[in-house]
Amino acid sequence: MRRLSDVLKKEYGEKVYKLALTSGCTCPNRDGHIAYGGCAFCSAEGSGEFAAPPAPVDMQIEQAKTLIQKKSHARRFIAYFQSFTNTYGDPMRLEDLYRETISRDDIVILSLGTRPDCLGPAMMEMLIRLNQIKPVWVELGLQTARDDIAAQMNRGYETNVFAEANKRLKEADITTIAHVIFGLPGESKDDMLDTVRYLSALDPPPDGIKIQMLQVLKGTVLGARYKEEPFPLLSLEEYSDLVAEACQILPDEMVLHRMTGDPPWRLLIAPLWVRDKKRVLNTLNRKLLLSQSESQ
Ligand code: SF4
Repeated sequence: MRRLSDVLKKEYGEKVYKLALTSGCTCPNRDGHIAYGGCAFCSAEGSGEFAAPPAPVDMQIEQAKTLIQKKSHARRFIAYFQSFTNTYGDPMRLEDLYRETISRDDIVILSLGTRPDCLGPAMMEMLIRLNQIKPVWVELGLQTARDDIAAQMNRGYETNVFAEANKRLKEADITTIAHVIFGLPGESKDDMLDTVRYLSALDPPPDGIKIQMLQVLKGTVLGARYKEEPFPLLSLEEYSDLVAEACQILPDEMVLHRMTGDPPWRLLIAPLWVRDKKRVLNTLNRKLLLSQSESQ
């Protein structure tokens, strides 16, 4: 496995920072096009709790840059449209928005979070055109390869839809990143690793992966369920062991984009250990080093 920070540093010669932006898209799993209520783990604010509120994209970029530049000399950025489904809406409006975004010299990559069932011909053509201007990454929420668990989570599509979307994007030379959640209720540790095995076995596999511990949030279906009857969650040690094992399974060339998420503090119900990001990262890094040295 390769780490994203290393890959970007090698490519651009310096650290590249991510700006969380908002496209104004909604989600078909919330507006009734596919379902109402969204995925069971997703808060009403979409899957990007920290994204800026909708505003002209230049303003969003400058605001997000100002925050980062208070702590660093950042010069190059990834425009990350994170919340909701960023290939769902009027293709012309979205293409204008994304073209404006990547026309800036300081934006080196366009990254779009979306669902694999929202990549119809018009969106694919848009992505192909944009990818000719600057690299486009498409981040696809998979969460689990188990269809029965996905149905319980109200994901709204079957796992083979993910595989098919990944294949089409890869054939179009677009970078793909799979999002996986460890700790969904009803999944064993083997099920979680099976999702990792599933991704590794795809032909071609996604270029990158983001792994996250399930965060039970207020205002979600899982949050309500947990309050009524708490279900077991992974401890930090268990989660870190699983991530380390997953990294041994995933292909060497795959890029690890993330192994922990920033919890929305005001919404977090459990597990509370995710709030201590420093401890989480230290534990994860220690386990990764250990499993690497054991496998050599
Ligand atoms: S598809 Fe994404 S934005 Fe939509 S409900 Fe699920 S997690 Fe939330």
